[in-house]
Amino acid sequence: MHIPETMRAMVLETACTPLICKELPVPKPNPDQVLVKVRACGVCRTDLHVVDGELTDPKLPIIPGHEIVGAVVLAGENVDAFHAGDRIGIPWLGYTCGKCLFCRTGRENLCDQPKFTGYTLDGGYAEYAVADRRYCFSVPESYSDAEAAPLLCAGLIGYRSYRLAGDNIEKLGIYGFGGAAHIIAQIAIYQGKKVYAFTRPGDTSARKFALRLGAVWAGDSTDMPPELLDAAIIFAPVGSLVPAALRATVKGGTVVCGGIHMSDIPSFPYNILWEERVIRAVANLTRKDAEELLAIAPKVPVKTEVEVFPLSQANDALSRLREGKLQGAAVLILD
Ligand SMILES: [Zn+2]
Ligand SMILES: [Zn+2]
Repeated sequence: MHIPETMRAMVLETACTPLICKELPVPKPNPDQVLVKVRACGVCRTDLHVVDGELTDPKLPIIPGHEIVGAVVLAGENVDAFHAGDRIGIPWLGYTCGKCLFCRTGRENLCDQPKFTGYTLDGGYAEYAVADRRYCFSVPESYSDAEAAPLLCAGLIGYRSYRLAGDNIEKLGIYGFGGAAHIIAQIAIYQGKKVYAFTRPGDTSARKFALRLGAVWAGDSTDMPPELLDAAIIFAPVGSLVPAALRATVKGGTVVCGGIHMSDIPSFPYNILWEERVIRAVANLTRKDAEELLAIAPKVPVKTEVEVFPLSQANDALSRLREGKLQGAAVLILD
């Protein structure tokens, strides 16, 4: 396959400035990496946190994007699982050390020396990207490139959040009904759970969207649900939702914070935490999460709702996400 010398990429040079379209050299894979021709790359809220400077210490300049679907064009000499032409997905967690306590105990998501696609490693807002062979996954055939992209972060983080919400739950609240929520709601409903969707106050289109997907109730994030929840997941980066979700949750219930960034959590009375309620965060993903999600998604089947943009309109896609104007997930498409 012909590999050109240079590629188009959307690059963040400094936080809080628009991405700039640049012509850069096509990266060369090391022996443990594959070179991928990017076909689609999802636009995630985390990209927004990087661009807006809310996540400190990105590699700069950086090519954002960590929901990459593409075709392998070149595999390093240590790569045996993938070959040229294979369609793969590349997620947020792009490298782990394999040696620290967390890596050795099934918690590679908490690795001491991780690298993250689109944050400390160049990502998929570009025509080509390289990725560590251990953090590449086969993409289920039934999905188009654009439809598969949101599974790779929104889906994965959502799935991990859902798993950590607990096994014995029937009523699941979801605060913030965007990319992750719309995927996880479908899996939860498929597994017989009742989903309660909480949206920005007055966001009737997000509420309709949730009900259309099968939620039993949809309301404002400031409302109490008609019945108490067994667990809640908060995807919206809004700290005041933590006490709101605790108040809406039964004893023993878990409130999972699924985002990488959240505004401050206001103080709250101990009695809304009392009776073994749990607040926990979810960080990153493990390969096991990815394997499980990519196996279950086509069975449900999870339908991802996407709005596609050409690579050159990455800034528009980010603005629409920032303003809450997207339904489902934005995906950049490359020819
Ligand atoms: Zn490690
Ligand atoms: Zn993400």
